[in-house]
Amino acid sequence: MRRRVSILGATGSVGQNTVGLLLAQGGAETYQVVALTGSGNVALLAEQARALSAEVAVTADPGRLAELEAALAGSAIRAAAGPAALVEAAARPVDWAMSAIVGAAGLAPGLALARHGGVLALANKESMVCAGELMRRTCAAHGTRLLPADSEHSAIFQVLRGESAGEVERVILTASGGPFRDWPARRMAEVTPKQARAHPNWDMGERISIDSATMFNKALEVIEARELFGLRPEQIEVVVHPQSVVHSMVEFRDGSIVAQLGPSDMRAVIGFALNWPERRALPVPRLDLARLGRLDFSPADPERFPALRLAGQVLELGGLAGTVFNAAKEAALGAFLIHAIGFLDMAVLVEHVLESLGPEAAACGSGYDLDAVMALDAEARRLGGLWVEAFSGK
Ligand code: NDP
Repeated sequence: MRRRVSILGATGSVGQNTVGLLLAQGGAETYQVVALTGSGNVALLAEQARALSAEVAVTADPGRLAELEAALAGSAIRAAAGPAALVEAAARPVDWAMSAIVGAAGLAPGLALARHGGVLALANKESMVCAGELMRRTCAAHGTRLLPADSEHSAIFQVLRGESAGEVERVILTASGGPFRDWPARRMAEVTPKQARAHPNWDMGERISIDSATMFNKALEVIEARELFGLRPEQIEVVVHPQSVVHSMVEFRDGSIVAQLGPSDMRAVIGFALNWPERRALPVPRLDLARLGRLDFSPADPERFPALRLAGQVLELGGLAGTVFNAAKEAALGAFLIHAIGFLDMAVLVEHVLESLGPEAAACGSGYDLDAVMALDAEARRLGGLWVEAFSGK
């Protein structure tokens, strides 16, 4: 029987790699593709849906439905649009799903995927940052296996296979440091969105690339690691490793540090989750360590990259502090992209919103529902917007 699969965010960087792997592993002959989703890139979504004979293709943008219908004309693929249709498509039963929408928009459909009882490959780190406890609770209630599809967390997951969680002393997340790794803060103040988009090692979507430049991406990953692996704040360390070859490490209580190494290619990470618990040959470049010659490590600098310091505050606050952090970060990034605020202002905005809403978020504790998350998300974005207005009016 063919394995039933869905991909949310199929038209994005992770989504396209996932579609490519499905095609490389037999496409529609091997997989019964249930739902593919995208947003603005309707032409690519229709092309993917045809290539994989998907049952349904959904664009998040209700204004693009006619375009999607036209692109799918003559096929048996059903077209749908809008956030509700996205959740409905995600709720269709599957054995394996990829959650790769960018941002908090991935949370509600990701939760629908968590109710399938199959494997949920999670690239949308924001789901764990905003509502990690809700995601874990939902997966546990439905017997869903959550597999990280983020290179650092996949590395930790791979290292922990066959190990006992109680023997972990700490995890060491590696960070490339982004394009401004060695820049002084005063130079970073002038950085433009175009400069921030250029990641030295990974080919990724725009938002995660800029988040890598500010190290907000690493901050999200610190919170994600806590949620995925049940770690205490002091058990998570970030180390700068410019080559992005060691994807992360775990130190055990006997002093051994075990690392996972691989190419900077998301197909390796996605392929691991797709084929788990087996390992299959993947179309990825191989590492030649002798040619590489050296691997460098240095401490991360929370002064020049305040996102890391703020992640520490989120861990200490607990509750829904991650929701506030992520929403404020998304508001800040949106303002930076339209040149309303500067590169360094993004962290100032996030710190301001976290100061305002942190205690309320912390008080949410655990046992919260999606409505509570979305309400706090909206409030954090509102405060972020006010900060930008005040900033612009200066
Ligand atoms: P992209 O920006 O490349 O793709 C995002 C996807 O989400 C696209 O399919 C896009 O559609 C869709 N989308 C955008 N806005 C919405 C919305 N409001 N509602 C529903 N769908 C929407 O992102 P990436 O692939 O880079 O990243 C996806 C997720 O994976 C992020 O959470 C990121 O942090 C994480 N991740 C990414 C990695 C990478 O290498 N790229 C590595 C590890 C994690 P469209 O393009 O059609 O507009």
